[in-house]
Amino acid sequence: MSRRVTVLVAAALAAALSGGAASPKVKEAKASQADRIFVNGRIWTGEPDRPLVEALAVRGTTVLAVGTNADIRRHSAKGTEVVDLRGRFVAPGFIDGHLHLLGGSLSLEELRLDDAFTFGALTGLVRDWAAAHPDAHWVTGRGWAYAAFPAGLPSRAQLDAVVANRPAWLVSYDGHTGWANSMALRLARVTRETKDPAGGEIVRDGKGEPTGALKESAMDLVGGLVPKLLPHEKERALRNGIAQAAAWGLTSVHQAGIDAEELELLANALAAVPRLRVYVALDIERDPTPEALARQEELRRRFSTGRLRVGAVKGYVDGVVEAKTAAMFEPYPGDGTGLPNWTQEELDRAVAAYDKAGWQVMLHAIGDRGIDMALTAFERAARANGTTGRRHRVEHMEVARTADLPRFKAAGIIASTQAMFPYPNQNHIGVYVPTLGPERARRAMAFRAIDDAGAVQSFGSDWPVFTAEVVRGIACAVTRTTVEGTPAGGWEPSQRLTTEAALRHFTRDAAFAEHAEKEKGTLAVGKLADLVILSQDLVAIPPDRIKDTKVLLTVLGGQDTWKAKDF
Ligand SMILES: [Zn+2]
Repeated sequence: MSRRVTVLVAAALAAALSGGAASPKVKEAKASQADRIFVNGRIWTGEPDRPLVEALAVRGTTVLAVGTNADIRRHSAKGTEVVDLRGRFVAPGFIDGHLHLLGGSLSLEELRLDDAFTFGALTGLVRDWAAAHPDAHWVTGRGWAYAAFPAGLPSRAQLDAVVANRPAWLVSYDGHTGWANSMALRLARVTRETKDPAGGEIVRDGKGEPTGALKESAMDLVGGLVPKLLPHEKERALRNGIAQAAAWGLTSVHQAGIDAEELELLANALAAVPRLRVYVALDIERDPTPEALARQEELRRRFSTGRLRVGAVKGYVDGVVEAKTAAMFEPYPGDGTGLPNWTQEELDRAVAAYDKAGWQVMLHAIGDRGIDMALTAFERAARANGTTGRRHRVEHMEVARTADLPRFKAAGIIASTQAMFPYPNQNHIGVYVPTLGPERARRAMAFRAIDDAGAVQSFGSDWPVFTAEVVRGIACAVTRTTVEGTPAGGWEPSQRLTTEAALRHFTRDAAFAEHAEKEKGTLAVGKLADLVILSQDLVAIPPDRIKDTKVLLTVLGGQDTWKAKDF
């Protein structure tokens, strides 16, 4: 507040000194005076007709002006803070179009197995964590890669060898497969007699005994027993997560699914740490009765302005490729075509009900059949209700049929993809690609083809599935290599994006995907002063250096939410 007050005091003083009421001239100067100006920068605005400018002025929460140094210095007066960017790169504040704030926040403190791609490295991490936490009643963690188990899925015997005297439960990096030890299975009473729950599978050996791997809804059998965190523990994690997001240059995020309890915690955390705007999708109701819709409508009314805004519902059409649960037209090598969670008729009915009530619908759909089901439901809802402009979204949208890409533009449907999903680590190259087979792998995460088809493509991270560090996402979308630079030239290099395209997907297009492109997503007069200052010129440097970029300053509505020590 202090700067604002200083400006007002300065203006009042000026008025007093000039003798009485403010003259029209002083009023004029007041109206165009900036609280802060940024000069001598390389400011990437995201506006097509003026993509790069030198300087920018902020007044209150919004952008007052963009232009040359000379243009902008005109808005500087006594009390205006001048920031000399010394050639640094500025972009609109980053927007993550798909993440899970609580899961991501908790991942900052729990056992993470993400970078262990061999069985030995993975079990080493579990052993170390168990030794370091002797009082934990359960050994829990997440992030293991399918690639660490070249013979198939993990087994309880493998985990018993590391943790035998406590229950252990480890969730795969994509959140779709769980790995239990024998004690955890015993506590959950999962035996050869236990039936597979709807939408899930208890993986069994040749004799019918559970192996310890549980897919999709079967994960709840064990996962449901893990002691729940207390609300204040979750809220503390959320506060840390929000601060971390700001440090990654994020000014807005889209929360992909949430229940009413978690929404309250998020509202409290944002009140305590007001460093992020959050667009929220509630969990979809499978059978949206008038009562269910009324409950959700109440939440939409309550959170309709400010930093926390409810506007969408999110559901799952299918699963994931690695667990062979993403719904496909053609079978996976060996077995099955995946598990759609709905019939087309059920999906059509639910989507039409939400569409009619003015909701945006976000549907997780990864396999080509799942994506077709989601597109079909969206198209039918618009036709049945006579609605336009709902901007329904297919989340992840990994393996679409090429012929389905034009349906996005035609029906105004958003492709909500994740910039790091094609990250070609061992899991991707060793499990994901072979599970699809060569023909389907070529159309997976086809970011360039999606752009070429004219779809609005919004980028996200799916944190905690991948880090929400945006420069890592941009680096992946532009190079399609690992940070080590493999494979040379990138995986499916024809789908690499330009840096500017990747930036657009993380700013303007993600803003469009939350119906907020008029307020944010580019740096233009009157839009929110949400911006990020980076250590390197993303557009000018060679793509292999993007990953080394540091966030120096994050500004949200004119207020700093993150500042690097060396800025
Ligand atoms: Zn997600």
